[in-house]
Amino acid sequence: MSEPSFDLDLEQVEEILPRYAIEGPRYTSYPTAPVWKQSYGVAEFRHELGREDIDPADGLSVYVHVPFCRSLCHYCACNKVITQKTELAARYLDVIEREIETVREAVRVPRLVTQHHWGGGTPTYLEPEQLTRLFRMVSAAFPLAEAAEVSIEVDPRVTTSEHIAALRESGFNRISMGVQDFDPKVQEAVHRIQPVDETAALVDESRAAGFKSVNFDLIYGLPYQTVESFDRTLDTVLEISPDRLALYSYAHVTWVAKQQRGFERKDLPPADLKLRIMLHAIRRFLDAGYRFIGLDHFAKPDDELSQALEARTLRRNFMGHTTQAGVDLLGFGPSAISELRGSYAQNQRELGAWQAAVQDQGLATLRGHSLSEDDLERRWLIGRLMCLGELRAEDYAKRFGRPFGDAYSAELSRLDAMVADGLVIRSADGTLRMTGLGRLFVRNVAMVFDAYLPEQQKTGQPMFSKTV
Ligand code: SF4
Repeated sequence: MSEPSFDLDLEQVEEILPRYAIEGPRYTSYPTAPVWKQSYGVAEFRHELGREDIDPADGLSVYVHVPFCRSLCHYCACNKVITQKTELAARYLDVIEREIETVREAVRVPRLVTQHHWGGGTPTYLEPEQLTRLFRMVSAAFPLAEAAEVSIEVDPRVTTSEHIAALRESGFNRISMGVQDFDPKVQEAVHRIQPVDETAALVDESRAAGFKSVNFDLIYGLPYQTVESFDRTLDTVLEISPDRLALYSYAHVTWVAKQQRGFERKDLPPADLKLRIMLHAIRRFLDAGYRFIGLDHFAKPDDELSQALEARTLRRNFMGHTTQAGVDLLGFGPSAISELRGSYAQNQRELGAWQAAVQDQGLATLRGHSLSEDDLERRWLIGRLMCLGELRAEDYAKRFGRPFGDAYSAELSRLDAMVADGLVIRSADGTLRMTGLGRLFVRNVAMVFDAYLPEQQKTGQPMFSKTV
């Protein structure tokens, strides 16, 4: 695939920004979570798990949510429990064991796990022996395929040599570190003091221990950031040279994350500065040899994500971009989401509610959604745009048996303004190709194909972060 050009005219981007910097989904699922209903519960999830029309050779993905953190980062909108009480983690392990066992019994067609991921919260909040216990529980119920991708998100501030040794011994081979920004003033404002030396030492240690891939998460749009200050962070990051980078936009979603109200809005960079920080970071990553994977991800050319992009097999699920095409995802722990071929199911979000539900019924499904034929089709369309930056009419016709231009004529004509603004190139048969500029606004293009969005927008309730 050819790389889109990010040699963008800043004035042009600033000119169109007010039209496209609107609230919109990130499309880690379609339909998006606000559409899911509580009428989909434990019985519906159990039924989906028991499906038998599945090829045992298909892989399986597993996600484990560990919700605990030692202290609160003020930008965070994740589902977490801030605590120092170790007994909470011990109880969590007992409960998740029951959940894993219940799902194992309900799954009719066992498959090997090709992707196994832990997120949070802070998974390394657990003691090394607790990590080992949890990993054994999951992999005994859902055995790993050879060459499986086994990854974990860690907080360098609480991750020790003993954690790294325990993780490698279990079989983890990819590690992702929260970094966000190395600038001391920014770190103080967001209540996350994380020295460079500590992070760099953990990277060295992880590589020496045999982790195949190291990822850094960065955030732009945090209080006090400037192009110059973030540039210094980028100098340090590029020197450490992680294999993958995620560059997230700070999402000011105070209706989800109340602690964000602690920020003075005036301390946040205004929209035009935030945009310049983002564009500057993208240029620096590309100049350093990283490939743009999509939305907010970058990887070195020899990384599997780059190769999947090249081979057009890149996919996206709740864990981000993935090389695992079309496999079911089973989620464990509070707020975890399962993505099965016919439905989505999300667990109770609160730790106490999740524990009570699992103890009572073995499962803790809070809400979900069974996908209609139309949902499945639009999920495919949005997935192509988000992952590959293009939507080929011939691929659509091959898969769904009718011309794309006829089936989506209304949506295609709604793209007129985006075509005129240079975001997307539309061919006569309806084929869409995002330009470099358009890749920045890919969520806006995807929104045109979202059948539920017009109704959601009518409510006037904030549901999503800004697209840029
Ligand atoms: S950013 Fe990570 S470590 Fe900080 S509160 Fe959120 S989940 Fe916990």
